[in-house]
Amino acid sequence: MTNIAPEPVYLDFAASTPVDPAVIDVVVHYMGVAFGNAGSRTHRYGTEAARAVRHAREQIAAVVATDWDSVLFTSGATESNNLALRGLAEEAKKNGKRHVISTAIEHKSVLEPLERLQHAGFEITLLSPDTSGAISAESVRAALRSDTWLVSIMHANNETGVIQPIDDICDALTDHLAALHVDAAQTFGKLNKPLRNPRIDLISASGHKIYGPKGIGTLIVRNTERTIGLRPLMVGGGQERKLRPGTLPVSQCAGFGKAAELALLEESERRNKCLNFKSRLLDELSPLGITINGDPHKSLPNIINLSIANIDSEALMIALRDLVAISNGAACTSTSYEASHVLRAMRLPDEAASCATRWSWSHNTRDPDWIGIRRIITRLF
Ligand code: PMP
Repeated sequence: MTNIAPEPVYLDFAASTPVDPAVIDVVVHYMGVAFGNAGSRTHRYGTEAARAVRHAREQIAAVVATDWDSVLFTSGATESNNLALRGLAEEAKKNGKRHVISTAIEHKSVLEPLERLQHAGFEITLLSPDTSGAISAESVRAALRSDTWLVSIMHANNETGVIQPIDDICDALTDHLAALHVDAAQTFGKLNKPLRNPRIDLISASGHKIYGPKGIGTLIVRNTERTIGLRPLMVGGGQERKLRPGTLPVSQCAGFGKAAELALLEESERRNKCLNFKSRLLDELSPLGITINGDPHKSLPNIINLSIANIDSEALMIALRDLVAISNGAACTSTSYEASHVLRAMRLPDEAASCATRWSWSHNTRDPDWIGIRRIITRLF
């Protein structure tokens, strides 16, 4: 008889989630049966596809209480962030506005477009978080200038899970003309109320963070005077209000719509289950003398970033790999050994940052073998 080890418990939900079976059913239907092009107006295959896309827009818009026609489909939050930041730049330049405010802890899909803007002559202010990982609304207010045309702040950080005070930031911008963009890749469908603030002009999200398919996301563009100047990054077709040309992947749109509907419906139930897992994780790992990076009282119910003194994150991940699948930061940068720019901005010493691992889960994550985990870590001391 062969002894097959159980699969490690997947604790990397901040990187991606599996697709919900109800979402798979929808995706498969629009791949194989109702496969028309949503732009085809001359037959029922097209109109059925267009109906599915419209329904998906309504499902996604409902999460943030906005109009269905605010939902632009993109390939994911990376593209949405690029479109929001680079798409408004031309109009800003035309109006003689040069200044952008963002933070040092943004995802690379915000930081790298900002670098491009800087090379193009814009001035970028990157705010630093305090040691808890939070950005204060006061620091946003203090950085505002008369030529600030964009404020881009993530809703929750993907490495620490720390939630930023979006409502306070909206208040700080009440009398200002700058557009507000929120990268909600980690919160869309999970922490929805702040995203309903009508002062937010642009919201980025990805389907695969909420049990939807990969390769589909949205830039929600609220119809405000601050978004009128948005220009596409690509040209070649009139789709998506001429802001994102190309044939829509109807099956992915419909799947993302279904995932958004389920997330909204189950928001509080999922949050409570995630909170229960979080308190169990903290109880189970506290005896090991862990340090939490980012205030756990300000962080999402499903992400914890922690360091165990003198145990390098690579060594920890390898030692635990039969029990849990964890990561040491953003999936897109986890192949590099560089210290996390997020933890550095929180002024964590390099040594503690090199020991940091991110644990992230879902509402239906089973408990890993906590005793086994503690035994392995104790051996590493
Ligand atoms: N922003 C944040 C905060 C994220 O966590 C991610 C995904 N790690 C992205 C943007 C990019 O999302 P995607 O890779 O789906 O384009």
